[in-house]
Amino acid sequence: MIEVQTLAKTLTIPSQLTLDRQPPTLILGGGFTGLFTALHLSHQHYKIPTILIDRSSRFIFKSLPYEFLSDELNTKYICPRYDTLLHESGIEFIQDMIQSIDLQQRQVQLASGLHYNYGNLVLSLGSVAAYFDVEGAEEYTLPFRTTEDAVALAKQLRNCLQRAIHTQKPQQQALLTVAIVGAGRTGIELAATLADLLPNWYAALGSNVADIRVVVIQREQEILKGDSDSLQQTAQTALRERKVPVEVLLATEAIAVRRNTVVMKRNNHIEQLSAATIIWTTGSAIDPLISTLSIPEAHHDRQGRLKLTNALQLLDFPEVFAGGDCTVMEQYPATSQVAYQQGATIAHNLQALAEGHSLLPAEIGLRENLMKLGLEEGRS
Ligand SMILES: Cc1cc2nc3c(=O)[nH]c(=O)nc-3n(C[C@H](O)[C@H](O)[C@H](O)COP(=O)(O)OP(=O)(O)OC[C@H]3O[C@@H](n4cnc5c(N)ncnc54)[C@H](O)[C@@H]3O)c2cc1C
Repeated sequence: MIEVQTLAKTLTIPSQLTLDRQPPTLILGGGFTGLFTALHLSHQHYKIPTILIDRSSRFIFKSLPYEFLSDELNTKYICPRYDTLLHESGIEFIQDMIQSIDLQQRQVQLASGLHYNYGNLVLSLGSVAAYFDVEGAEEYTLPFRTTEDAVALAKQLRNCLQRAIHTQKPQQQALLTVAIVGAGRTGIELAATLADLLPNWYAALGSNVADIRVVVIQREQEILKGDSDSLQQTAQTALRERKVPVEVLLATEAIAVRRNTVVMKRNNHIEQLSAATIIWTTGSAIDPLISTLSIPEAHHDRQGRLKLTNALQLLDFPEVFAGGDCTVMEQYPATSQVAYQQGATIAHNLQALAEGHSLLPAEIGLRENLMKLGLEEGRS
């Protein structure tokens, strides 16, 4: 993984930012694609005024909220501020909510009322949690996608453990039960971390850790669908070996969520699981702004992700580049290592466009992703 802070530290101000009358290049979303596009443009001494817009003041390193949950890392390493990362880079940062994008008029509207016309645009808005229309899922479950989510989850869990000490059985059991819907990488890593962390926290309150339950609910017949058999086996073993063993319910579908209850369908029977903490990790959906773009149906895939040319341009809009989770390149997964390499290609091609050179196709190298299967444990 490229060190964001190291790349940012070696930046120099482009020698001439003189083309102020030229419409700027706008980068929408400062995640792995957007931030890396900006940092590479700065390195390249890109001369067109460039503005990065994100609703957050900080870059969120999504792979690390587990460490934040367990206090293993300091916030400033997981979510450094954009104004620090882009200091003296020549890239302007604006913290604002992007409200609408008009590709035909080449205009972007922000929630603050500001609006911009652009010469080139980079769409790097990432994704949002997918709830698949499951009744109550968005209302009664916690997401786990950002450091804010990790902070909210840690607070909720500590609060439940505190209340459990003063609560009699059977009500106590719901307070000590965490249900995680989804056994993809996020669900499994989170379950393994919590199955180590919660016993530590509860033991520190002088209570019986054996009462803690971490339950994973998975619609498929296997965990980590799409990953190798050996990783699935390693993960299963790791889940059994935590301080409290993780319970995995396979072929079980969460069909509704109510306050403190997951309603599940298993072997054609409806069952209920009482849990004061229910976490939803069943995958990602397209950012709502992307679905508002006025482009032909055939230029999206079935999930609404944008199809691109090899040089990462929108099919009918050569001035617009895109990358990361809001796009689809069939051979590549939606991961940060793909997103930041696409950022490098986009920066290269923006420069090529500005200088009248030919564009390069994206070349992405894939390395195996480590998984975190418990406190202080990484496996691949
Ligand atoms: C919990 C979790 C763990 C993960 N772990 C790994 C891992 O270990 N390894 C790995 O390779 N990948 C991992 N991923 C996937 C990886 O984080 C994504 O593939 C990557 O972040 C995609 O980059 P992106 O630039 O497309 O979007 P993002 O990094 O999501 O960035 C999108 C940016 O757009 C901004 N934005 C969105 N909408 C608006 C708006 N309307 N206005 C203003 N700003 C907006 C957001 O604030 C955000 O900063 C993980 C994902 C999650 C959720």
